[in-house]
Amino acid sequence: MATVMESSYQIDAREHLVRFKVWGELTAESLIELLNRAVSDPRYVPGMNAIADYREAHGSWDYSEIQRFRDYLVHLSPPCEVRWAAVMKPGNLAAAGHVLILISEAVGANIKMRIFEEPAAALRWVHGESERRYPPRQQFPRHEFLSGRVEVRTGDITGLPVDAVVNAANPSLLGGGGVDGAIHLKGGEQILRACQAIRETQYPGGLPAGEAVLTTAGKLPARFVIHTVGPVWGRDEPAEELLASCYKKSIAIAAEHSLGSLAFPAISTGAYGYPKNQAAAVASSAISEALSQTHAVERVSLVFYSEADLDVFLDNQQFQATRFSRY
Ligand code: ADP
Repeated sequence: MATVMESSYQIDAREHLVRFKVWGELTAESLIELLNRAVSDPRYVPGMNAIADYREAHGSWDYSEIQRFRDYLVHLSPPCEVRWAAVMKPGNLAAAGHVLILISEAVGANIKMRIFEEPAAALRWVHGESERRYPPRQQFPRHEFLSGRVEVRTGDITGLPVDAVVNAANPSLLGGGGVDGAIHLKGGEQILRACQAIRETQYPGGLPAGEAVLTTAGKLPARFVIHTVGPVWGRDEPAEELLASCYKKSIAIAAEHSLGSLAFPAISTGAYGYPKNQAAAVASSAISEALSQTHAVERVSLVFYSEADLDVFLDNQQFQATRFSRY
């Protein structure tokens, strides 16, 4: 006779951690019941971190199921920031990423959630209490604007452990060269699958210039990728408005999902040919305007591939010219 394994939990007071092992068919109801059992256990302390292993679980959730679970989590509202890691089979990562995006928006800043393939990586993340999701500050030189909310630096955007990296995507959302190629290559198939899902549902004709969408960040150190399509210089008009819209909509999406740190590449200034000096003025003005309308996005990094590009930006930015009210 086959043995049916029961979903279970263990509370590790010393590690301030609840470990869940979920077996068989996973419904919102069964998951809520399991969580309820754990949080009503006398050894449970509000504010504990959690690792849930879903590798032996299966199920497909529709929107109402996701909503049910989301409402439960909102109601649970921990008293401080907690980290909840989910360990998934690689085949389920894209679907889980989609659920996570819908859930994390509602639970806000107090429950940090991430998906892993390896339990060891999940444990490291859960214990990384001191890890701040901001890129390390550069020693010298440091270029900051808007009271330190904007940092301008060189580097490879795919290596930054921010809440979201912005991708200079093309309308197909299916990958390309430049930043786009690097993000898909490093982030892996999960990003591509999430993009395909967006094409099938929201944007069958491709993402128009000036728009932005959010997906998982796959294997990148960031949590999410915001894909935005810049204007092709000489073709997409009004170019300035469309480029500004890429920055504003990306910041608006980050704010909507309570993502505190965000890194942008120099959108449209590569293959799309936007003159770098003009792009600097547009980007800095758009960022100033967008940040003046939200306090959720605390830190924006503008990442240039070369010192030369960074210098052009510094010479042409309009941050200082823009009047900035803190929130
Ligand atoms: P677009 O098609 O919008 O012009 P590209 O990806 O071709 O986008 O280039 C945008 C800018 O990003 C260029 O200035 C390029 O030098 C820079 N870039 C390319 N790869 C990276 C990277 N990995 N990190 C940061 N910037 C990058």
